[in-house]
Amino acid sequence: MSLEKILLVHTRFEQPAYRAADIPPYTVPEIVFAGRSNVGKSSMLNKLANQKSLARVSSVPGKTVSVNFYRCDRPGDFRLVDLPGYGYAKAARTDKAKWSSLVESYLIGRPVTMAVQLVDGRRPLTEDDEHMLHYFSEQQIPFIIAMTKMDKMKSTEQAARKNAFPAETGADAAHIIPFSARTGMGVAELTAAIAAALPDAEQKES
Ligand code: GDP
Repeated sequence: MSLEKILLVHTRFEQPAYRAADIPPYTVPEIVFAGRSNVGKSSMLNKLANQKSLARVSSVPGKTVSVNFYRCDRPGDFRLVDLPGYGYAKAARTDKAKWSSLVESYLIGRPVTMAVQLVDGRRPLTEDDEHMLHYFSEQQIPFIIAMTKMDKMKSTEQAARKNAFPAETGADAAHIIPFSARTGMGVAELTAAIAAALPDAEQKES
């Protein structure tokens, strides 16, 4: 089986972390998913893992603040780490403070293998998105930008947004993946990018 397929089949929920003390120690490579609330992060994780309810999909933005750890243990061992969504306009100040403290507790000093930054394909980056990307660059964490909900656009608009994204984000086109949890657009590309980022991908595949 190709490594790309392994992600799809063997991902399971490992644990949530609501407080810094709940964050598991770093033991295996970690691929981090970040984005504002409602950007489509849960839908993406479900689609990548080919499971309907691995992550909870919400129609109401602004959920409990937690970092969720998913584990994939065959044949290599690694985690998908779902950071809490940010930028929910109505979030109380205490929730924002909780977000920062939890996310910082996780990220600071964590040797993250790769980050997937989700951005709504129809929209420019928010200031919070830019902060995340800046952080990843600064920490030398390689990142992919996934343009979400591409199915919501007609093909001409999709093409226009794909063209605009490198200039809007400052990222190389090779690191931008248009994605749709509804149609499956970008699933293969994103899975391959994750597989390629994991250490010793070739050895694991054999
Ligand atoms: P999260 O808050 O980032 O985890 O976002 P969710 O995955 O919960 O999705 C938020 C909303 O956007 C839900 O109503 C989803 O059904 C919808 N959504 C997510 N991904 C897509 C997509 O690719 N296409 C469309 N049309 N809707 C999507």
